[in-house]
Amino acid sequence: MPDKTIMTEGHTLWEIYAIRYGNNPRRTRGENFILEKRPADPMPMDFYCWVLKAQGKLIVVDTGMDPEKASRHGHDILCTPVEAWKALEIDPASVDTVILTHAHYDHLGHLDALENAHFLMQAEEMSYVTGPWMQRPWFRRAYEPDELARLVHLLHAGRLTLHGRDHEIADGVSVHWVGGHCAGQEVVRVKTARGWVVLASDALHYYEEYERGIPFSVAFNLSDMIAGHERIRELADSDDHVLPAHDPRIVQIYPAASEPLKEKVLRVDLPPAAGGNTG
Ligand SMILES: [Zn+2]
Repeated sequence: MPDKTIMTEGHTLWEIYAIRYGNNPRRTRGENFILEKRPADPMPMDFYCWVLKAQGKLIVVDTGMDPEKASRHGHDILCTPVEAWKALEIDPASVDTVILTHAHYDHLGHLDALENAHFLMQAEEMSYVTGPWMQRPWFRRAYEPDELARLVHLLHAGRLTLHGRDHEIADGVSVHWVGGHCAGQEVVRVKTARGWVVLASDALHYYEEYERGIPFSVAFNLSDMIAGHERIRELADSDDHVLPAHDPRIVQIYPAASEPLKEKVLRVDLPPAAGGNTG
């Protein structure tokens, strides 16, 4: 199946809601970075998924983490994506389009709540998670077999599209393969009123990777991971238009979607506070 090439500039302007559904205040620098000089120093991790909204259209990007998996992997849930969707007046059963940026357990929980949705993911990610690399514990460490089986069921039910590397989802929304963190890692490029924003998902966990040009600890291919930073720079209007999936700095610099959703749901289509990403 040929890919839809990204030829058109997006005219639809999207709002982006970043859902901070979990965190891990116990995490250390040594768990995040290879050859880290201060491995015992604290480096808390937040967990995000996103919702894109425009003119009555809605796209869900990643679906958070199953609470049982969160506790098994030592992470805390702050509010489930299902709770956040409902707070944003989104009925999960009405969602029709879901982008899965990759298949790690912290990006595809709650799939059953999206009973009428169609899912999209990189074809390379599906080959990877069902192929020979999974014979090795290092590569399968962030995957959960029951969730991968759910993807197989969705595929056979005609509810999962496995697309090529660059793929247009809607006017002003496209996904782009970068690999690195896992074989099928992608980033999401979204046209907003302030320009092109890139949801880097796990192509960046923290801004520090991007600033220092260093890899995150969980990796399939380090050269693709570092090259991915350059791809993100090409796709985003500026470094202030780039959103990692796990950085606690995000909640400090972006406005809340509303007062009751403070520190849980942020508007990242709006500009960050003065000073931007600079930590
Ligand atoms: Zn992640």
